[in-house]
Amino acid sequence: QLSKRLKTVASYVEQGGVIADIGSDHAYLPCYICLQDETATAIAGEVNQGPYEAAKGEVERQELTARIQVRKGDGLQVLDPNEATHITIAGMGGTLISSILENGKSSLAGVKRIITQPNVDAEDVRRWFRKEGYALIDETILEEDGRIYEVLVAEPGNPFAAYSEQEQEQEKELWFGPYLLKKRQPAFLKKWQLEKGKLNRVVGQMKQAQQPDEYKILQFNERIKWIEEVMHNG
Ligand code: SAM
Repeated sequence: QLSKRLKTVASYVEQGGVIADIGSDHAYLPCYICLQDETATAIAGEVNQGPYEAAKGEVERQELTARIQVRKGDGLQVLDPNEATHITIAGMGGTLISSILENGKSSLAGVKRIITQPNVDAEDVRRWFRKEGYALIDETILEEDGRIYEVLVAEPGNPFAAYSEQEQEQEKELWFGPYLLKKRQPAFLKKWQLEKGKLNRVVGQMKQAQQPDEYKILQFNERIKWIEEVMHNG
């Protein structure tokens, strides 16, 4: 049974695509997609030997070797331009996801949709999409086994369409997610309640330092204020 997290990622993949799943580990995601949609094919990319072998094993067990190629290599280097229609990158930090995208831009030719699931630092992925001309077309957030996950979906298009015109608002939208701010799903409210607690604890610790970094404290307090505003706007 595939996790709710990866099922959510899969739900954004359109029928009949060529899916490149980067950092595929056991290749559970491409296997699930290909079992659901017999017109789909996939490439599972892995940089590490153990997960690469796990992916090959899983693809063989599912008898999908004719439709899923497992390739070993760093990020998008396993992919040629105009080969994939959809890219999925799940279960890593947003900083790593955006560096994988940044280092593999040439392989993104022909890609219609990029679906990411950053465990932390989703803001980095939003910033990368915006900088590189991808329109954020949807976001969702879910809770599974006590952890909260965000899924960000982008397509080539107007990178500013999802954001407000005002710069201060844009900064908030990059942090919280422009769609997530509007949807206000239960997991979203829970996530930011928890983040507020964390930030409060960090500020408390910073204030106890011998020479408190007043600028940092101010910055963190501003973020706490943002969270409070978002919580009360509902
Ligand atoms: N995508 C799967 C998921 O969401 O369940 C696996 C997530 S696992 C935590 C991250 C995987 O990414 C690991 O198997 C790791 O080897 C792989 N990985 C990390 N950096 C990578 C890179 N630059 N290129 C390809 N794979 C990478």
